[in-house]
Amino acid sequence: MTARRKPLSAHKRIVIKIGSALLVDRAAGLKAGWLEALCADISRLRESGAEVLVVSSGAIAMGRTVLGLPATALKLEESQAAAAVGQIALAQAWAANLSRHSIVAGQILLTLSDTEERRRYLNARATIAELLRRGAVPVINENDTVATTEIRYGDNDRLAARVATMTGADLLILLSDIDGLYTAPPATNPDAEFLSEIPAITPEIEAMAGGAGSELSRGGMKTKIDAGRIATGAGCAMIIASGKPDHPLSLIDEGGRSSWFAPSGSPVTARKTWIAGQLEPAGRLVIDAGAERALHAGKSLLPAGVTSCDGAFHRGDTVAVLDASGREIARGICGYDIEEARRITGRKSTEIETVLGYPGRAAMIHRDDLVLTAPRPRG
Ligand code: GLU
Repeated sequence: MTARRKPLSAHKRIVIKIGSALLVDRAAGLKAGWLEALCADISRLRESGAEVLVVSSGAIAMGRTVLGLPATALKLEESQAAAAVGQIALAQAWAANLSRHSIVAGQILLTLSDTEERRRYLNARATIAELLRRGAVPVINENDTVATTEIRYGDNDRLAARVATMTGADLLILLSDIDGLYTAPPATNPDAEFLSEIPAITPEIEAMAGGAGSELSRGGMKTKIDAGRIATGAGCAMIIASGKPDHPLSLIDEGGRSSWFAPSGSPVTARKTWIAGQLEPAGRLVIDAGAERALHAGKSLLPAGVTSCDGAFHRGDTVAVLDASGREIARGICGYDIEEARRITGRKSTEIETVLGYPGRAAMIHRDDLVLTAPRPRG
């Protein structure tokens, strides 16, 4: 059964991500009137029965204004200091505005390992669940004061998608200055068409966002499509809408412009949701067409179907599975270290013992540890 777009209030648990530029003006600081209107929208959603979580950017932007830092790119320690100053103000603004509607806010600052290491992931999930149980609105951001380039989400689009999957949300809303997905960049292409419903994130959709592997700016369309993959793959719908006008949530329901990404129909286990949403796979396995068909038929990935592998992974790490063109089609927990994986690549499962000198697992990735992250190719 294909999912249909529903009014926001028909959802049970909604994660709303707010981009920095909506909340903070470079010169004037916090956009207080806008935040007040948004909190009224949030309150209305809650009254209609939905639980709401907020992923709020703006710590660095806010701290930058307070500290009088230059408009040019900041050094790492400058942005960390800006985040330290800005996060206090940001949390305060959320708490004050939500309390006008008798809503309690709870601040959660996450680092990458809080969602990527399973034990810490379960811990963070339990804290958020307790806040929701007690009727509070979790206000979440990356802990930018300690995050460094190597160990950070970097953008709150993917962080918000991770929070959505972690909490079993059924809707993720990305509010920024981008009002949705177009077939081409609307600023440079007059023929660009707006897409209001996206049934699946196909290679064509990825190409519209600037190419699967390209490095666009933080929070551009690329990170939004990455977020969409994580969320929809776990059965959570996603909406991209402009947050610029006041009451952006009400506007979505009133038919304002927004792009809706359908959740994938196939139910996945909590463990598979965690695997699919891992932000940084430790390595990559390239597979042949036969193995790709086998994965779509629900089978395990055998060494015989693997054509090459790279990365620095150990047994138990999550790796990405790519087709011959380099496109990611699945993720899974690898049953072998990279050195072993290299040696048995392309070999039959019956040859594993001879090649390694000891009996190994028949599968490179067992089907229980494997989740498809791209739709089946057509034809
Ligand atoms: N965590 C950053 C901040 O609060 C924002 C990251 C983003 O905008 O994607 O300033």
